Amino acid sequence: MPRWSSGRVALVGDAAHAPSFLSGQGSSLALVGAYVLAGELAAHADPVDAVASYERIARPFMEAKQALASKKGGSLLMPRTQEELDARNSTLAAMQQSGETSRGDHAGQVHNSLTLPDYTRWLRA
Ligand SMILES: Cc1cc2nc3c(=O)[nH]c(=O)nc-3n(C[C@H](O)[C@H](O)[C@H](O)COP(=O)(O)OP(=O)(O)OC[C@H]3O[C@@H](n4cnc5c(N)ncnc54)[C@H](O)[C@@H]3O)c2cc1C
Repeated sequence: MPRWSSGRVALVGDAAHAPSFLSGQGSSLALVGAYVLAGELAAHADPVDAVASYERIARPFMEAKQALASKKGGSLLMPRTQEELDARNSTLAAMQQSGETSRGDHAGQVHNSLTLPDYTRWLRA
């Protein structure tokens, strides 16, 4: 969505930033967004400031994850040719052998690109 809030009303999860099938992890993203929104609501006296801060923190991460759909993952998940099918099978076999569970370097960097804020001081207050 072009914006995630209006006044005191904010969107979370798929309603705000649904990923495509090719970028995946919609449930994880929904949890990350909900965590940040809850934390920002605890950290700000004014909910309007809190929802603006929530979007400022979470949007770059969500957009980077969505953008993974335009990378090469398409041929990995839905190969269209025998060559892509063979490449998919070799990649998955190599990942299985090495114990690796994530895609290439760029995807791995995106997955780890948001360090979640620590809101524990607001929970104790
Ligand atoms: C086929 C498929 C496979 C997927 N696989 C994965 C996966 O492997 N891993 C992963 O992380 N994600 C996966 N996802 C994505 C994941 O399901 C979503 O990103 C995630 O559920 C989003 O959570 P949400 O709470 O934002 O929305 P939802 O889970 O869609 O929850 C919204 C809720 O609101 C309810 N609702 C709607 N309108 C109203 C209304 N007017 N009043 C009251 N309630 C209403 C709905 O019934 C629903 O229960 C998959 C999605 C699909 C469709």
